[in-house]
Amino acid sequence: MTDYQPATSRPWRPASCSWCGEASFDPGFLQDSGEGSQGALRWVTGALERGFFGGAKSFGRERRDVQGARCSACGHLELFVR
Ligand SMILES: [Zn+2]
Repeated sequence: MTDYQPATSRPWRPASCSWCGEASFDPGFLQDSGEGSQGALRWVTGALERGFFGGAKSFGRERRDVQGARCSACGHLELFVR
């Protein structure tokens, strides 16, 4: 995991909800509590390929944190990879 780059701590927020148009968001992220995880869901660049034992291949791929913004009016989730 030497290429893992932690995202900045400043949350990203969209200007308005793409579902209902409200402009009030709660920042957050999708937790990954699986064995060996680093706690947060990550985006891996490139199409999903599975290895011999069924795990997703990610060796040598770019990885980034997935961050979210939840609309406080309707609950719609906007996801961003930074
Ligand atoms: Zn909304």
